Amino acid sequence: MDIRSNEPYWLIKNALAKSYSSLKEDTETEVLIVGGGITGALIAYKLITEGKKVILIDKRDVCNGSSAASTAMLQYEIDTPLHELIDERGLTCAVSSYKNCEKAIFDLKKIVDEIKSDCQFEFKKSIYFSSTKKDVNFLEKEFEARKQHGFKVKWLSKEKLGKLGLIAEAGIESESGAVMDTYKFANDLLKYCSEKGLVIFDRTELKSVKAKNENQVAITKDEFKIKTKHILYCTGYESVETLDEDVVKLKSTYALASEAFQKTPKAFKDHIYWNTSEPYLYFRGTEDGRIIMGGGDEEFKNAKKRDALLPKKEKNLTKEFNNCFPDIPFTLDYSWAGTFGETKDGLPYLGKPNPEKDLHYVLGFGGNGITFSVMGMDAILNSLENTPHPYLEYYKFGR
Ligand SMILES: Cc1cc2nc3c(=O)[nH]c(=O)nc-3n(C[C@H](O)[C@H](O)[C@H](O)COP(=O)(O)OP(=O)(O)OC[C@H]3O[C@@H](n4cnc5c(N)ncnc54)[C@H](O)[C@@H]3O)c2cc1C
Repeated sequence: MDIRSNEPYWLIKNALAKSYSSLKEDTETEVLIVGGGITGALIAYKLITEGKKVILIDKRDVCNGSSAASTAMLQYEIDTPLHELIDERGLTCAVSSYKNCEKAIFDLKKIVDEIKSDCQFEFKKSIYFSSTKKDVNFLEKEFEARKQHGFKVKWLSKEKLGKLGLIAEAGIESESGAVMDTYKFANDLLKYCSEKGLVIFDRTELKSVKAKNENQVAITKDEFKIKTKHILYCTGYESVETLDEDVVKLKSTYALASEAFQKTPKAFKDHIYWNTSEPYLYFRGTEDGRIIMGGGDEEFKNAKKRDALLPKKEKNLTKEFNNCFPDIPFTLDYSWAGTFGETKDGLPYLGKPNPEKDLHYVLGFGGNGITFSVMGMDAILNSLENTPHPYLEYYKFGR
């Protein structure tokens, strides 16, 4: 599957950060991680910290899947609004998912600091806004639900939003949000882990798996074997190729990066934004003075068709930006497209699809893919050891 078009801004900004050699002989390990994006990097970090013997393989250069395309807004606000998630999944699961997503932002910052990653992690307040009067009622319900469950939120009127230069009917401002450069962070984290004992092979594709006694034998495209107890799939959207269950609806999404502004517009100093439209639009600033925006999702994943739409998306998204922030001149510098996916309840999938097999998945899909991957770290040892963890119940396969 071709999960993104060629030139996300992050790849140009960072160039190819670090490459590893491919696997050239049979080997063995305690745990094999398949996938070296942000999820694989975080899970490797957790396991290496716990003293496990781990090999990580990736069929591309590491971090060159969706993690290179991400616009990297870190929010506790899940694609399914809290008041709807409560109805769908019950109070405990819904509120805990929101709370733990919030915790994940702070957990991530701790790792950034520990490994001294220069990934421009910055805390921001997040504004969820409505451009139309018809969504204000919905936004009010969401505001009440969040307030009731202890989230630090403020109601922003049309006038208050106008002071930021945003033309919108109303908004919810949340205290906890952040941005970063995911590509840089994931690369830094893999490098850190490799210095602590993680063995990484890139350009090494998992082709098939055979169970042998208590172990798994992973066979690569070049026919090398990796004998291991557990296989952890951190294979992002391409996981649909190895799963029987239909867990995610794949679609296409688009992102633009503006030219750098001499001075960051006031609206982007302390805030990130997303709106109630379907598909939703979202905006953030970068440390080098650009604005990154995304949206324009299409209900298909065909890469050729997706990329052919880029010129049209550039025009439409720029226009949408201008409608929201008419006083900020958005001049396009980079555009890219990627595969994106939504689960039926907006929540991730964690654990073993088949309880009999030691094949585990960490699938943080949707607009909170990154924070969900951070949460995956908290439950991964329980999955390996077959012990209970609330996440393995809330986010289980077959739910
Ligand atoms: C345009 C865009 C904007 C986004 N914005 C946000 C955002 O603002 N906030 C947010 O939280 N999330 C966002 N996301 C989602 C987020 O980027 C993803 O959730 C996250 O990057 C997934 O990371 P990952 O490591 O699971 O997957 P990936 O980065 O795709 O890594 C999976 C890796 O597995 C490897 N792989 C797959 N199959 C095999 C195999 N058989 N053998 C070996 N290796 C294999 C791939 O090569 C790949 O490197 C966005 C996504 C896109 C496309």
